Amino acid sequence: MGESNKLKIPKIKKGTVIDHIDAGYALSIMDIIGLGETQNLMTIGVNIESKKYGKKDIIKVENVFLTETQIQQISIITPNVSISLIEDFNVIEKLKLKLPKMIKKLIKCPNSTCISNSEKEPIGSEFNVLNEKPLKIQCIYCDRILNLDELVFIEKKREKRIKQRIQL
Ligand SMILES: [Zn+2]
Repeated sequence: MGESNKLKIPKIKKGTVIDHIDAGYALSIMDIIGLGETQNLMTIGVNIESKKYGKKDIIKVENVFLTETQIQQISIITPNVSISLIEDFNVIEKLKLKLPKMIKKLIKCPNSTCISNSEKEPIGSEFNVLNEKPLKIQCIYCDRILNLDELVFIEKKREKRIKQRIQL
């Protein structure tokens, strides 16, 4: 491929770069973390050729920082993503995501009789990760098994955006 065919994605001055997204998942990430509603400049690359990863997607969004919950949700939808925080065109923080072995209080169990959905005894949902690709997780309370397309994230109240340090 000649130099002229290479896709150039402009650098952003300040904001977040979500890179190494599994090809085809950029739009689901935008949907789930609500980036589709932002008024800020956003660049999305889909099916970009990458030497190391084959095809990948990338999202760059100016003036937007993610919450910890959003970062955790991304790590479930498309693990092995890298998230960079940009200030004055420089990367000030970089985080490599990994799919956790346990997913706590992030996903709603679809089984209405599951104890994690009980209103009398509120108890956080908890899933064991059985398989990464394709994703398969199991509720530790009722043993229900879910695939990626069945996940429903629990809505969180307003959270502080992570600007300086990402702590998981
Ligand atoms: Zn359950």
